[in-house]
Amino acid sequence: MHVVVDQDLCGTTGQCVLTLPGTFRQREPDGVAEVCVARVPPALHAAVRLAASQCPVAAIQVIESDAGDDERASAELAPSPAEAERHAANDQRNPGGHDGTV
Ligand code: SF4
Repeated sequence: MHVVVDQDLCGTTGQCVLTLPGTFRQREPDGVAEVCVARVPPALHAAVRLAASQCPVAAIQVIESDAGDDERASAELAPSPAEAERHAANDQRNPGGHDGTV
């Protein structure tokens, strides 16, 4: 799993940093959030999903990936077509999920 912050959207609330200080940090001096890990360890997947769902401006994007993708970690952050299709299917099964509205 990878996680990215849209720094143009970030509202600098610091919520993600409070939730996962080892994964997110706020840069100086403007407080915009940034990710401080290249790859999210499996033990933190649920917490990262929670942080993303709680971002008030939906600036956190979680990119799920299959096991064994270490080589892809620094090269390609976009999900494969198969992953995108799986995510779309998951979205249809979870219509009440976070939709980015505040
Ligand atoms: S929770 Fe969202 S808006 Fe707040 S600091 Fe993190 S990314 Fe920015």
